[in-house]
Amino acid sequence: MTIIAFIGLGNMGGGMAANLVKAGHDVRAFDLSDDALAVAAAAGCTRAASAAEAVRGADAVVTMLPAGSHVAAVYKHDVFPAANPDTLLLDCSTIDVGTARSVAGAAGTAGFPMVDAPVSGGIAAAAAGTLTFMVGGSPGAFARAEPILSAMGKAVIHAGDAGAGQAAKICNNMLLGATMAATCETLALAQKLGLDPQTFYDIASVSSGQSWSLTSYCPLPGVGPDSPADRGYAGGFAAALMLKDLKLAAEAARSADAATPMGGLAKELYQILVSAGEGARDFSAIIEMLNGRPAG
Ligand code: NAD
Repeated sequence: MTIIAFIGLGNMGGGMAANLVKAGHDVRAFDLSDDALAVAAAAGCTRAASAAEAVRGADAVVTMLPAGSHVAAVYKHDVFPAANPDTLLLDCSTIDVGTARSVAGAAGTAGFPMVDAPVSGGIAAAAAGTLTFMVGGSPGAFARAEPILSAMGKAVIHAGDAGAGQAAKICNNMLLGATMAATCETLALAQKLGLDPQTFYDIASVSSGQSWSLTSYCPLPGVGPDSPADRGYAGGFAAALMLKDLKLAAEAARSADAATPMGGLAKELYQILVSAGEGARDFSAIIEMLNGRPAG
C-alpha cells in the first residue's frame, strides 16, 4: 500500500482519488473546498487539514489543480517544505509548458523526482478510471509513476523529459479544437447546400474528411454515435476548458516560434463562444454559433 497525498479534488481529482482508494492506496486528500473534501472522504480518502498535512509522510503526491499559478504556489509553499526526501511528485493538471518545466526543475533541485502527467478524457473517464496520461519526466521518475497512474487510467505514455506531457496535451487539444471547429462549419455548410446531414455524415465518415470530431463525437444531434449533441450539449468537455487549452497552445507556439494559424483561429472562435456565456456547454456546441441558429 502506498501513501498518496492528493491535492485538488474537483471534477477530475475527485474521481481520480476514488480510483486510487479502490486500488488499495491510502489517500490523504486536501482541497480548499469543504464540499470537494466531503465527497473525497465518502469515497474513502482521509481528510487533511492542509496541503502540507496531506503531504507529510506520503510516498507520492498527486496534484489536479486549475492552472499553472496554483501548481507553482502549491509545490513551492506546501509540497517542497513538507515532503520526505525522494517523495515522487505527479502533477496531472493541464498547465503551461514553461511552468511545468520550472516546477520540475525546482523539484529536482530539492531532491524530488517529478513528472508532469496531464490527462485526456473528461469527468466520466476520471470517474471510470479510463483516462489517458501523457507523461514528461526522467525514465526513472516515469517508472515509479506508471503504477500509480495506471490505477486511474487505461493508457500511460512516456512523452519525453519534463514538460513533454504538457506539450503533448496542448498539441493534441489544439488539433481537436481546430478539427471540431472545421467539422462544425462543414456540417453547417453541407446543410445550407441542401444536403441531408445523415447522408453527408455517411459519405464523409468513409471519405478523406473523416475525423474523430465527426465520427466519434458528432456535433449534430441524432447523427453518428451518442455524443453531448444528443443531450443539448450538456456534459462532455466544456468550451471554457477548450479555450484554456487553445490559449496554452498559443502561448507555447509563441515561445517556440511556431506558426499555428489554424490553432489561433480556433482560439478566436472559442473566445467568441465563451464570451457569449456558453463556456459551460460542451465544446461541440460551437456548431450552433457557426450555423447561426440551433443545430439539428
Ligand atoms: P475543478 O475546478 O473542478 O477542480 C480543481 C480543484 O482544485 C477545486 O476543487 C479547487 O478547490 C482546488 N484547488 C484550487 N486551488 C487549490 C489549492 N491551493 N489547494 C488545494 N486545492 C485547490 O477543475 P477540474 O475540472 O477538476 O480540472 C482540474 C485540471 O484538470 C485542470 O487543469 C483542467 O484543465 C484539467 N482537465 C480537466 C478536464 C475536464 O473535463 N474537467 C479534462 C482534462 C483535463
